[in-house]
Amino acid sequence: MFFRCKNCGGNVVYSPERHKMFCPYCESEQREERAEGDNNAEMTICPNCGGEVKVGAHTSATRCAYCDSYLIFNERVEGQYAPRMIIPFQLGKETCKKSIREKFKKCLFAPVDFLSEVRLDSMEGIYVPYWFFGYDVRCVFQGEGTKLRTWRSDDKEYTETSYYAVNRDMSIRFRNIPVDASEAMPDDVMELVAPFDYGQLEAFKPEYMSGFYSEKYNMAPGVVEGRAKKRVDEDTGKLMRENIAGYHSVRTIRQDIQTGNSEVSYGLLPVWKYIYHYRDKEYPFYVNGQTGKIVGTAPISRGRVWLYAGTLWACLTAGFLMVGLLVMLL
Ligand SMILES: [Zn+2]
Ligand SMILES: [Zn+2]
Repeated sequence: MFFRCKNCGGNVVYSPERHKMFCPYCESEQREERAEGDNNAEMTICPNCGGEVKVGAHTSATRCAYCDSYLIFNERVEGQYAPRMIIPFQLGKETCKKSIREKFKKCLFAPVDFLSEVRLDSMEGIYVPYWFFGYDVRCVFQGEGTKLRTWRSDDKEYTETSYYAVNRDMSIRFRNIPVDASEAMPDDVMELVAPFDYGQLEAFKPEYMSGFYSEKYNMAPGVVEGRAKKRVDEDTGKLMRENIAGYHSVRTIRQDIQTGNSEVSYGLLPVWKYIYHYRDKEYPFYVNGQTGKIVGTAPISRGRVWLYAGTLWACLTAGFLMVGLLVMLL
């Protein structure tokens, strides 16, 4: 599908700044109609210009290379692939460029065009498919805690140890533990870009995808669930340790963690991606499309390091010359 402007016929996109649909061609708001395309698994005919657009195996939203319209593939956002929720982009491209510039402007040795308008403009907004896991966990703990009391009398130190039975029975509800469902997205990057504010999750509407790229999930929940369970185990352990704090020592007699009801739902989260190509290497940058958190390391330009060293050397030489001149004058 494709969203067409009722006013001028241009492609209407979702504007993160306005929080609504917007036509960048005639600047009208929320005057769109949905037009359907004709597609199969590998290609689609652009409903706007009739061009043949190649489609990746998992692509659910892309841009027509001929007319720049953003296309969404119905069968990859409906039925078994219908996302239940989405955090719409909160940061637009301009805001994102600005924050990358802010962050890296002091980066002395980055190549000259690293923060150039042309390069930064190649940045793309991507909705990453995620599974959100939820569990009801019961944790029963039985242990023995000690508390110490020390005092001095007649130059001797005395210690009294008191023993306590430590029993806990905690029920913990975990909801919306996110794990990305895309093979293309590096797991470590997605963990670094997190956290998202899940209070802003909304019911999915394809309109939010217009103006962005996206993939349908391509890793089944069972394949990635281990990562959610690991989080649950770690967080349960942490909560338990916090709950039995205050003792000098705690000896575990029995600890039983049971995972009860579990649930999983499917959603999309917003990430801006900027790939900088430098000397046959790719330097990817990711920006959380909701919070603006940036992940990535700027490349180092040898040329600029030498240039900098050269300037420094020139300054030092000039300094020496001055000293030499002063000595001669004396
Ligand atoms: Zn328009
Ligand atoms: Zn087109």
